[in-house]
Amino acid sequence: MKNKEIKILLSAPRGFCAGVERAIEIVEKALVKYGAPVYVRHEIVHNKFVVDNLKKKGAVFVEELEEIKDKTRPVIFSAHGVPKKIPLDAKNYKMTYVDATCPLVSKVHREAENLNKSGYHLILIGHENHPEVIGTMGQLPKGSIDLIQDENEAKNYKFEKNKELAFVTQTTLSVDDTKDIIQILKRRFPKIREPLKEDICYATTNRQMAVKNIAKNCDMFFVIGSRNSSNSVRLVEVAKKSGCINSQLIHSKSEIPYDLIENSNTIGVSSGASAPEILVENFIENLKKKFKVSIDEVEIIKEDVVFKVPKKLN
Ligand code: SF4
Repeated sequence: MKNKEIKILLSAPRGFCAGVERAIEIVEKALVKYGAPVYVRHEIVHNKFVVDNLKKKGAVFVEELEEIKDKTRPVIFSAHGVPKKIPLDAKNYKMTYVDATCPLVSKVHREAENLNKSGYHLILIGHENHPEVIGTMGQLPKGSIDLIQDENEAKNYKFEKNKELAFVTQTTLSVDDTKDIIQILKRRFPKIREPLKEDICYATTNRQMAVKNIAKNCDMFFVIGSRNSSNSVRLVEVAKKSGCINSQLIHSKSEIPYDLIENSNTIGVSSGASAPEILVENFIENLKKKFKVSIDEVEIIKEDVVFKVPKKLN
């Protein structure tokens, strides 16, 4: 195997986005400011490596506030955002909380809220049960926002209320699939109001564009990221749709398919917005143990977005 030459096309941008960097920094700074334990409601970002590292530093992950026995300890809300009820519950428990919701998710929350106040009935395009979707739906009173997950649901959506329609989207969807869903909605409801600025975030868009750019030149494509990471899973779909059908996710329990890689000449590598670069480096190091590896990084755009952490942590 060692003589086999493999070319890696390394997709860029990849990995951590500004929202993920900020969320991790919030937990780290909270640990310094308040000491351990600091509670985090839900995985701060969807990556086991990140979560395990923060656990070692004293973060304790829970799914609901009710699980926290010592309510004198601070709690952090994850980057995906939370329903309106959660900060209210924390206030009622007299808990100190820090909201690590990505500012680009908060933007969608405010957008949905303003449209609702202006009398619109909302559609959220997104995936059921994803925490971001639960958080966005939870900004509005029940019955004033409906979820549409795919083209089929857009085709069959029934709306007879005496109200105008508007839509918002999850930030980590497939850009192309979402366009198709929006087209159907616009055809069926020509007056539907759309967001002033697209809700799918810059990081999701850039990572998908970068993968699209190289996938057709790859025999196999690997996306480093967790199974519950929406944008990582979307990157695998994008690679498949863009011409590399042998595309797969490399998550914490994945075995690297060396046999298949041996039959490839060029492989593509990217990583989801919540996957640290060390995991990409480890993956490439493992390949180097088996093959003669050359790396060509293909960058389509430079990112310089930075989000500040809340002032109370400085
Ligand atoms: S993927 Fe986008 S919305 Fe999600 S945390 Fe990153 S920048 Fe924010």
